[in-house]
Amino acid sequence: MGIVVAKFGGTSVGMGERIHKAANSVVNEYMKGNKVVVVVSAINKTTDESIKLVKESIGDSVTEKQLAGILSMGEMQSVRILSATIESLGVKSEYIDPFSEKWPVITDSNYLEAKIDKDETKKRVQEHIMPLLDQGVIPVICGFLGRDSHNCVTTLGRGGSDVSAFLIGHCLNADEVIIVTDVKGVMSTDPRKLNTARKLDKITVEEMIDLANYGAQVLHPNALRYKDPDIKAKIISFEYGDLRVKGTDIIGPANPDDNVVTISMLPDKLSVIAVVGENLMSKKGIIADITSKVSDNDISLYGISTGESSITLFFKKEDADKAHEVLHDLVIQGDELSSLSLGQEIAMISVVSHEFIDTPGIIANITNPLHDNDINIVEVSSSQTAVVVFVEWDDGEKAYELIKETLQ
Ligand code: ASP
Ligand code: MG
Repeated sequence: MGIVVAKFGGTSVGMGERIHKAANSVVNEYMKGNKVVVVVSAINKTTDESIKLVKESIGDSVTEKQLAGILSMGEMQSVRILSATIESLGVKSEYIDPFSEKWPVITDSNYLEAKIDKDETKKRVQEHIMPLLDQGVIPVICGFLGRDSHNCVTTLGRGGSDVSAFLIGHCLNADEVIIVTDVKGVMSTDPRKLNTARKLDKITVEEMIDLANYGAQVLHPNALRYKDPDIKAKIISFEYGDLRVKGTDIIGPANPDDNVVTISMLPDKLSVIAVVGENLMSKKGIIADITSKVSDNDISLYGISTGESSITLFFKKEDADKAHEVLHDLVIQGDELSSLSLGQEIAMISVVSHEFIDTPGIIANITNPLHDNDINIVEVSSSQTAVVVFVEWDDGEKAYELIKETLQ
């Protein structure tokens, strides 16, 4: 027995029969003795259609506030239909939209990509949603929507009802969050692109976040920020009309503090090697040649970045002479690469945070204070969640402190 949050995506409530199936699966779960909270998206492509209508009728002069109000209608409709369907099956249900007194999700006034006030939301979930569960009522809550401090409707960004589900799960200390969608689970790749794609039985939060950021549509990349390690989570297909069906389990996160920024400096000195050649982008296999040469010689690579006419590699200082020698062999063997240079004593500072994905200007925030203090940056490399900065060893400590001051 526990608290289950079930989120239904647009397709899972895309027609009358599916809405009935969804309601039925919720009621079955409830009958087993669980407390069930439902989060629902707009029916089918309602949100896309509203955006199209607005474009055609108003064009660019629509305000963000107006658009958020218009888009909210999709979820305002679906909560009413789903809640009434649940009631028709003989269980008490209450729909909750941003105009309800019990509305829990509180945000800032950035209408289309609103930032959630986690503390206020948690307080309201405990105050208004928990008592409904204790009274045996099934709350059906609008996904995707928020409310600001002026009682205006906001949205959490496209696909945001996944965020709503995990957020509410977190605030309720739920036992499980179930995402009911139009695929059987998370696939090894996009099945429309490769027919050898397989469903995964499980995936970690860390893997799922990277997958979502690189375009997998199955879950909103920000949703898992709210997943606590001990809340079970899975993605399942609506087709079976059963919340107990197997899909893909989402495990973790291993490090629940991943939301905060971690800044670290490698204690070892690194060396940098720049391998130079003409038009490297258009030549095949160069990176493979370089990295296999390095790994064949048992040298670990701390960073690599590629440009039009050079490839920069970072090694531990103690490995640098060896790396220099073997890469030089490679350079003189073929015609593609012309030369290489070895620089000594580099410090590597890593800055990691899942917040980076949707924080504009993060690299500038990291590099500006270094520039202002005349610290030369040897190289910067970045991925979705990490920025790695290489500076001269003598500048390392100062750079580390400056970045810390700016970001923490
Ligand atoms: N209805 C919203 C959208 O289409 C939110 C969601 O489906 O998660 O973006
Ligand atoms: Mg969706």
